Amino acid sequence: MLVLSRKEAMSINAPFYNTGKPCKNGHVSDRYTSSGHCLSCKADWESKNHEKVDSYKQSWAQRNPEAVRESVSTYYRRNTDERRAYSAQHYLQNREDRLAKQKVYRQENPEIYTAAKQRRRAIELRALPAWANHDLIKEKFALAQQLSAETGIPHEVDHIIPLRGRNVCGLHREDNLQVIPASENRKKNNKFEVN
Ligand SMILES: [Zn+2]
Repeated sequence: MLVLSRKEAMSINAPFYNTGKPCKNGHVSDRYTSSGHCLSCKADWESKNHEKVDSYKQSWAQRNPEAVRESVSTYYRRNTDERRAYSAQHYLQNREDRLAKQKVYRQENPEIYTAAKQRRRAIELRALPAWANHDLIKEKFALAQQLSAETGIPHEVDHIIPLRGRNVCGLHREDNLQVIPASENRKKNNKFEVN
């Protein structure tokens, strides 16, 4: 507790002061520099006089609409800033954790990512027909993943008719997909480019 006389508080524009001596009700609390009133006495009085306090606040608010608007907007601004700061901090703190989880998920479910990537590519190439069966397409990617794991030979999902063929363009749909070893897929692509 900083012991400060009312006079000293006035000289440094401090809103409160505290002499370290009790008030008439025995509180050793801060006092208002402007009035000399004890803050604890005020709090006691307010807690026993809710209705008076409320009606006073209400009539003050009616007389000071500007101040009310100002205080509301200050509240929202401060609140927004705090929320923003909190979520940024939260985001940074959890970033590492999130990335690590994402990595594990990716390693454990590579076919999901491959399927999504191929789907995006098909959309870009306008080769994804509305009637494609996405469950069957996903099954092809899951099968490629399963064969790779079981045989130790990397397998991929291949478009039987390439999405960007020279003469004809295939579609990203289940009946144009086959699971073949990655090496076959490379050969096919190369051959296709040479043609
Ligand atoms: Zn008091």
